[in-house]
Amino acid sequence: MAEAVARAIRTGEHLAVQAGTGTGKSLAYLVPALRHAVVEDATVVVSTATIALQRQLVDRDLPRLAKALSPLLGREPRFAILKGRRNYLCLHRLHTGAPEEPEDPGLFDPFAVSAMGRQVKRLHEWSSDTETGDRDELVPGVSEQAWRQVSVTAKECLGVSRCPIGVDCFAERARAEAGKADLVVTNHALLAIDALEGYPVLPEHDVVVVDEAHDLVDRVTSVATAELTPNAVAAAARRCGRLVDEEIADRLAEAGDGLHLTLAELAPGRLDDLPTPLAGAVAVVRDAAHACVTALGPERKEDVEGSTARKLALALLEEVHDTAVRLLTAFEPPEQDRYDVVWISGGVGQDHTRPSALRVAPLSVGGLLRERLFGPRSVVLTSATLTLGGTFDTLARQWGLPPAPAPSRRAPGAATEKEPPADDTGSPAVDGPKWTSLDVGSPFDHPRSGILYLARHLPQPGRDGLPPQYLDELAELVEAAGGRALGLFSSMRAAKQATEALRERLPNTILCQGDDSTSLLVKQFAEDEPTCLFGTLSLWQGVDVPGPALQLVVMDRIPFPRPDDPLASARQRAVAARGGNGFLTVAATHAALLLAQGAGRLLRSMNDRGVVAILDPRLATARYGGFLRASLPPFWTTHDPEVVRAALRRINT
Ligand code: SF4
Repeated sequence: MAEAVARAIRTGEHLAVQAGTGTGKSLAYLVPALRHAVVEDATVVVSTATIALQRQLVDRDLPRLAKALSPLLGREPRFAILKGRRNYLCLHRLHTGAPEEPEDPGLFDPFAVSAMGRQVKRLHEWSSDTETGDRDELVPGVSEQAWRQVSVTAKECLGVSRCPIGVDCFAERARAEAGKADLVVTNHALLAIDALEGYPVLPEHDVVVVDEAHDLVDRVTSVATAELTPNAVAAAARRCGRLVDEEIADRLAEAGDGLHLTLAELAPGRLDDLPTPLAGAVAVVRDAAHACVTALGPERKEDVEGSTARKLALALLEEVHDTAVRLLTAFEPPEQDRYDVVWISGGVGQDHTRPSALRVAPLSVGGLLRERLFGPRSVVLTSATLTLGGTFDTLARQWGLPPAPAPSRRAPGAATEKEPPADDTGSPAVDGPKWTSLDVGSPFDHPRSGILYLARHLPQPGRDGLPPQYLDELAELVEAAGGRALGLFSSMRAAKQATEALRERLPNTILCQGDDSTSLLVKQFAEDEPTCLFGTLSLWQGVDVPGPALQLVVMDRIPFPRPDDPLASARQRAVAARGGNGFLTVAATHAALLLAQGAGRLLRSMNDRGVVAILDPRLATARYGGFLRASLPPFWTTHDPEVVRAALRRINT
């Protein structure tokens, strides 16, 4: 892998590397990356999806490597970590206080107010201890609402030259450190902002390593998603209230009320056309926000207080205005050529506590990535899960890369090879950046260390919670394993149902997501072998519990996106409209990735043994089952519950 990464850096070709847990993949890319940076006097960016991996790189791998490589490179390589401004404590805001925020129903609850007050007080205390101001270093963490009181977005920041605390600013210090570093560790969100939004937030770099690359498309999609809510409009109006004519600010507040009333009449879900009243309400918001921006006028040489108020107002106003414009233009092209998907979330029928929101997200980010991420530099993408259905092409197409040259398509180790689904937009393959792929395999002997149990005899999962047969099967498996089970469920409702049922039937401690913070639950699960941990599949992708505390991973159903998921359903439809198989391309790919991630929780060290049990019989019987199975590690497979229970009992005797 290290040689392949060095070659990619040298030739400028992109590289996708699948490297199983325990291969040492971070060292395999860090060594050639550091050498390139020092020898060429360049900067390399390494991007991760999770804080856990960021910590591993910055606290463990890089300090050791920098020392070890120092005699070979002639000097010790420098590294730094850089995140979005929102992740750092803003000392200016801490001292001047936060402006009035969007109304939050929780704030009327006196307990919530005092809890937040305590958190903000803790943040003040922490501000004099912390050296970095990095939110991730605050343990235990604080609520999003409390953090908002002491942080600013890039648009809200006064700018180092105007800010009276600019010289001590944590975010500025992190940026300065990153500017001097050979290698900068960041997250996918900042990488996406740097690549997509047209203003550089990372130091200039010629190589990017995307670790945990299986998550790249989702993170980039999040960055490219915008939301318009009546609350945000009201907050923008309040923020500019004292800075512009009252009448102009009132017009915006009224536009927010109008949007609220219009949204309240509409059901949540995807919008294929913008209903006329909604189009009218959004246009009124757009015009009122524009009038406020114009009234604010160009930046003047105000005092710091005036400048701060103006910046804060402008940040919200521009966001409201730009989102309204984007929402209105999303519907202009003919349906098959549209770039964005629009939907109403929250409100009636879904979540009564959240106000309705209009959201807009790109149908595909492949084109953006191809042009802005892969265009100007060498990119190495790596993860333990990059082949789906036995090939790299499925994810490569989502990244906007063309199909790989034939010899590198096959991923060794997959159970069977299946035809990959077509492009995520369904468009025909086009020439694009050159890339190669490599599967360095896994140090684990999957067929000997793990069993894949497909419960073919069970009924198909229903809509009304887990069928009784699933609960019986789950209880029998957990009993045979003596606890030690990670239950990965398709919904919180199913996780809670299974938790309650097993707490009644078994003496083992059953922990459930939400009982406590995820990190504490995982710690408790890892420390006490008979304990089980149940939760939803998406939240447990980062669980790393080697040893006998985890010998059984159970998944209740194939994790397809919900049929009413607006983005997935729009993507499916776009593929189908171009003659592709929308279900296989979008839903099955999504499920394959989550299944592979879930199954990957089982073997974390060389001596691990155990079972991955999938209760949904469609994995064994459905037409698309072959594609999904080919995305899983090559475990020995059985349909026989007796064989599995006997194996689970044997493991610990
Ligand atoms: S420069 Fe920006 S982020 Fe830093 S303290 Fe000042 S306002 Fe806050």
